[in-house]
Amino acid sequence: MAYEVPPLPYDYAALEPHIDEATMKLHHDKHHAAYVQKLNGAVEKHPELGKQSPEELIKNLSKVPEDVRTIVRNNGGGHLNHSMFWEIMKPKGGGDPTGPIADQIKKDFGSFNDFKTQFEEKTAAQFGSGWGWLVWSGGKLSIVTTPNQDNPITEGKYPVLGNDVWEHAYYLKYQNKRPDYLKAWWNTVNWDKVNERFATAQKS
Ligand code: MN
Repeated sequence: MAYEVPPLPYDYAALEPHIDEATMKLHHDKHHAAYVQKLNGAVEKHPELGKQSPEELIKNLSKVPEDVRTIVRNNGGGHLNHSMFWEIMKPKGGGDPTGPIADQIKKDFGSFNDFKTQFEEKTAAQFGSGWGWLVWSGGKLSIVTTPNQDNPITEGKYPVLGNDVWEHAYYLKYQNKRPDYLKAWWNTVNWDKVNERFATAQKS
């Protein structure tokens, strides 16, 4: 198989109480696995695609053969997005950002609190399934949302962090209260990993 689900870098219950064990199990083992399975199915028809990283595939979506482009967009996007998502969280995460990303957030949003408020508002307002993102583009950070499994890298914006607001990400614990999930999610963020992604973003 060209693509594989990366193992979760911590236990399913490690993000409790902010994200519950049952949600993590379903989300990683079922939802992410389904994206990878469907992506591999598409790549079987065009084996040359399987040599690209998920990021390259989604960055250059217009070069993917048309007959599988939508499958790759949705499922390659799902694979890329979730692979990032598991990594930018950790047990006992959260707190104030550190390092270069802390300085840049202050520069572009005024303060971490202002950034959090804007991110929560915009991401809560994403209609239906999608993601909220902190992206690096044109020498500054900004917040964008995307529907479905679209990733801002297709538009040339590098995702420094992203939060999944598909109902499968929060519904078991938070039901219809997406804003409560968004607030709690900050307690899981792995700022070291976000700084690594910010360094990559600046080189891209
Ligand atoms: Mn998801």
